[in-house]
Amino acid sequence: MSASKTGQLQRLDRAHHLHPFTDFKSLAEEGSRIIERAEGVYIIDSEGNRILDGMAGLWCVNLGYGREELVAAAAEQMHQLPYYNNFFKTTHPPAVQLAEKLVSLAPEHMNRVFFTGSGSEANDTVLRMVRRYWALKGKPGKQWVIGRENGYHGSTVAGMSLGGMAPMHEQGGPCVPGISHVRQPYWFGEGRSQGQDPDAFGLECAAALEAKILELGEENVAAFIAEPVQGAGGAIIPPQSYWPAVKAVLDKYDILLVVDEVICGFGRLGEWFGSVHYDLEPDLMPIAKGLSSGYLPIGGVLVGDRVADTLIEEGGEFFHGFTYSGHPACAAVALRNLELMEAEGVVERVRDDLGPYLAERWGELGDHPLVGEARSLGLVGALELVDPETGERFDKALGAGNLCRDHSFASGLVMRSVGDTMIISPPLVISREEIDELVDKARAALDATHQRLAVTTPDKIKESLT
Ligand SMILES: *Cc1c(COP(=O)(O)O)cnc(C)c1O
Repeated sequence: MSASKTGQLQRLDRAHHLHPFTDFKSLAEEGSRIIERAEGVYIIDSEGNRILDGMAGLWCVNLGYGREELVAAAAEQMHQLPYYNNFFKTTHPPAVQLAEKLVSLAPEHMNRVFFTGSGSEANDTVLRMVRRYWALKGKPGKQWVIGRENGYHGSTVAGMSLGGMAPMHEQGGPCVPGISHVRQPYWFGEGRSQGQDPDAFGLECAAALEAKILELGEENVAAFIAEPVQGAGGAIIPPQSYWPAVKAVLDKYDILLVVDEVICGFGRLGEWFGSVHYDLEPDLMPIAKGLSSGYLPIGGVLVGDRVADTLIEEGGEFFHGFTYSGHPACAAVALRNLELMEAEGVVERVRDDLGPYLAERWGELGDHPLVGEARSLGLVGALELVDPETGERFDKALGAGNLCRDHSFASGLVMRSVGDTMIISPPLVISREEIDELVDKARAALDATHQRLAVTTPDKIKESLT
């Protein structure tokens, strides 16, 4: 695309397009980068720059770009039946086949799925289902759902209420009532500074959950919702002690466990579900993103027998659903995506080869002066940026994370920043050579950031701001 065409699109974008999770005014000043096409693990912008997509879009393009099989699955289904709904006792082959496939991959006690159009809608569905479940069980008082600070469960009103993102709660509230949050198992951010051992910290976080249950009253708590590994919060891998202790607390008080698999599902952690990696036996699992490798929008909730049997046997009509629940083209693409993942052994390769290889190479970045911790699990990873002088966080005003993200883009790698935590979540079909390239480019970005920060003191930043 010519430079003038790029400029024209940027002008129109500025004039008419309100982007998600964006400071509209500052984007208008800077102008958007226009992504025009993609192949494999690379995206290509309108200036012809080839950029390694270290985030798989938004944690979703697990099979990589340009998969003709997925394009064909969509086209065939669009010819056959572009739309029909699953309301009023009707359905269509792709929805049924996808449901069967999902259940075959899910833990044994999960045999039903409710389809949605996205991960946020899946979590809206979760909230309705858990409250409905307890009402049917004759315990309508069990209404509270406990989530976690800095958890992410989507951006609809219920999704953002279940999530624990303070900046989201501050806008457009009040949140949905009956939702409370407990501390997150983020050792580097919250345990390390107190000199705590990670496992002791993990137990303390589980104890905080128990304390919250007792505060609200066991008879009032419906469910606990959490991501196996927090994604949007900063690729936060909990200490080993955390999940077993949380499970024990939930069992003790008869509280449903909702494991948000929107990111961790479909191979990200080297198993089909994060719940399998951590042996969680959830009652409900919201899914989306990698379900279709992001080629078309689709989500859902996998429902365990305990909840499903009650909803089916005792529930009557469940007054909930979406026009695009189980959309035929989306379902056909998701089904093909899962078949390809199985046929190509994608999940096993992440577990046995690529995950360990990333851990080794990514771990090497831990020796960089700016890096306080380099962690990864499967194909999700994070770097904690710290001031080399002190080993502590930088002054927030420096915006070290955003600086590093911009340098990363410039060096040909999409790496996202969450505060001063750099995160990656590349396509699951990335090769070892491409992992090498990803790590080299991340190091180049760290070097460039280090240089910039060395000549930029907090005073200079403040000067430039006034
Ligand atoms: C992205 C995400 C969601 C929301 O999914 P959308 O499809 O954007 O609505 C929910 N939960 C988790 C863990 C996510 O990462």
